[in-house]
Amino acid sequence: MRDPYEVLGVARSASKDEIKKTYRKLARKFHPDVNPGNADAERRFKEIQSAYAVLSDDAKRRQFDDFGTVDEAEVAARHARSRRRSTGPFPGFDVRGFGGVGDLGSLFGDLFGSFGGRPGPGPTVAAEAQVELDFGQAVHGATVVVPVRHEVACTECAGTGRTASGPCRRCGGTGLLVQTERLRVRLPAGVGDGDRVRAAGKGGDGEVSVSVRVRPDPFFERKGDDIHTVVPVTFAEAYLGAEVEIGTIHGPVRAKIPAGTQSGQRFRLRGKGVRNLRTGTHGDHYYAVHVAVPRVVSPAGREAARRVGELYGVDPRAGLPRSLE
Ligand SMILES: [Zn+2]
Repeated sequence: MRDPYEVLGVARSASKDEIKKTYRKLARKFHPDVNPGNADAERRFKEIQSAYAVLSDDAKRRQFDDFGTVDEAEVAARHARSRRRSTGPFPGFDVRGFGGVGDLGSLFGDLFGSFGGRPGPGPTVAAEAQVELDFGQAVHGATVVVPVRHEVACTECAGTGRTASGPCRRCGGTGLLVQTERLRVRLPAGVGDGDRVRAAGKGGDGEVSVSVRVRPDPFFERKGDDIHTVVPVTFAEAYLGAEVEIGTIHGPVRAKIPAGTQSGQRFRLRGKGVRNLRTGTHGDHYYAVHVAVPRVVSPAGREAARRVGELYGVDPRAGLPRSLE
């Protein structure tokens, strides 16, 4: 048997809490469900379980600290050699059943929730799921169906990992089975990329944390609760002023562009942004004006452009620094 401290990678002085945390991390990493068909991971997983079985039990940990082993016969022999006592049993040492897989139920109960050893497909625990939404779905809210992986107690062995004829074949001795549940989740309007939404699992058993990804939109850009777009206008519209249609996530809006609008100038439509999840109020819609230039150059256009050029009283680049001072 390997040194359990070494297996978990914790110091001999590690607290129970530290040991528990490390164990959980490692057990999740090397769990057979996460590493299907990986014999190395499975071996490592079993090693981690054995190590934790020793270090999570005060008596067994003390026993290992004192004797470097938890094997009953070996302990007895060393104990005898130490001449503190000639024969067992050793008060405070409860090594019955240890070393087998009988402890797995409680170990998993500890790791994954509360079903420890309870028969049948027990209640599930906090599960995670991911969903990817279109920009519009996120902005307006959507009901989606997400597959949720649950680990439930094995029905064959009631979560103990073993049957009368040895380790349970159905769950590979882990005491756990993976079930996929198709969960309908209502995502509220305004949900954003990277948000997590909590949903109740089926039958109220356990909570599902759904992490949300939102596909970007080529036209509407979201910054917080605000929406940003770019609106191309003609030179005439920018120069003379105009009423143009602005597409927003809540539908088209007629908006005025004042005479003398500059390319890049930004305007705001109040309350036409995204609904805030917490406050329920809406952000704003900002549209930046982009003065589009006709691509085709004609004799008439050339003449018109020359006369437009005369409208500039001053060089538009006057006042720009000529280099970095
Ligand atoms: Zn089983």
